[in-house]
Amino acid sequence: MRAAAAVDQDRLWRRHMAMAEIGAIPGNGVNRPCLSSDDIRARALLLDWLPRGRQPAVDRIANLFVRRPGRDPNALPVVVGSHMDSQPAGGRFDGIFGVLAGLEALEALDAAGIATLHPIDLVAWTNEEGGRFQPGAMGSAVFTGALGLQSCLKLTDRAGIRFEDALQTTLAATPGLPRRDFRFPIAAYLEPHIEQGPRLENAHRQIGVVTGIQGARWYVVEVTGEAAHAGTAPLAGRKDALRAAVRMIAALQELMHDPQDQLRFTVGRLEVVPNSPNTVPAKVSFSIDFRHPEARVLDERGGRIEAVCRANAGPCAVTVAETFNRAPCVFPDAIVDAIERAAALAGHSHMRLPSGAFHDANFLADVTPTGMIFVPCRKGISHSPAEYAAPEDLAAGARVLAATLADLAGGAAD
Ligand SMILES: [Zn+2]
Repeated sequence: MRAAAAVDQDRLWRRHMAMAEIGAIPGNGVNRPCLSSDDIRARALLLDWLPRGRQPAVDRIANLFVRRPGRDPNALPVVVGSHMDSQPAGGRFDGIFGVLAGLEALEALDAAGIATLHPIDLVAWTNEEGGRFQPGAMGSAVFTGALGLQSCLKLTDRAGIRFEDALQTTLAATPGLPRRDFRFPIAAYLEPHIEQGPRLENAHRQIGVVTGIQGARWYVVEVTGEAAHAGTAPLAGRKDALRAAVRMIAALQELMHDPQDQLRFTVGRLEVVPNSPNTVPAKVSFSIDFRHPEARVLDERGGRIEAVCRANAGPCAVTVAETFNRAPCVFPDAIVDAIERAAALAGHSHMRLPSGAFHDANFLADVTPTGMIFVPCRKGISHSPAEYAAPEDLAAGARVLAATLADLAGGAAD
């Protein structure tokens, strides 16, 4: 376990705190939108920390790669990492932990003098969160071919800034970096992440050996009514888009009721036009985020969303657009077993669990054997400034990662 033993808990924690200063918001939170000036600063800081002689590279969607060469120049790389962007009011650990744990694991392999057969590529995927440009996990989806780059370029954020322009600004901030191709062949992909749920903490385990990721379907519902004076327009004749939207959301909550509490249903964004206290709402759009580990449930309930919205539209018009549909994924036994072995060897308590949240690993799982390593976060809170993970748990995750890498990448005598 030389690789695991070489993980430096203090260095890993210091780097988390330094990254958390970039895009810091009150209450210990982080707002680091993808391809923003803060994203560019975070990328620059990561590059500053690279061990001497490590050559970074980018692809055309600004996914950032750093290679640690292997003994066999023809062997496929084992890729490890996560994302550096955050939710608008996000925490200090979501995503960035996977990147910093990956960097820490590479340094641990160096310190332990372990030369792996396979090269190891550290990666920071572009736009995992989808807070600024939708859909999320864009970098990994484009990399793996699930999404075309062209379809992303013309997207705009809420300020009207084009994805293409933000991307060019980000790429221009690191001139001269070699370019990597999309979809280069990969031996395996590992992603460390905070759990973003309470199961590890409740079970008093330090490591989650992730068995797969539940599926997700996302929608945008647009309700069109008619603006009118709030003081004069009789209720009977109104086409109040917000009243219709409220009915729809209530009916959708009924549709999505799950006594086992496995199903996840969220309306997280509601936009009202003209959003004036004295005007009957003319237009409302709201988002739906619906997830479940079973494809059957995703198909069946998801297939009824549009009909439920229509049935509750009253005098308004409604359109339902599915913006994202991702089947559940199951990680291969070989990777799950390797992570479990590494956790046992490193002496960290562990348990198997599925991922409730969606990750870049979902897309990588389409093209290479994939696994995830979870560490606990306090009360399971994430996507919030209150998100917290303990230094010793982050280090445990990095140790398990280093040991798993040494195993999967063919480390000598570890
Ligand atoms: Zn994340």
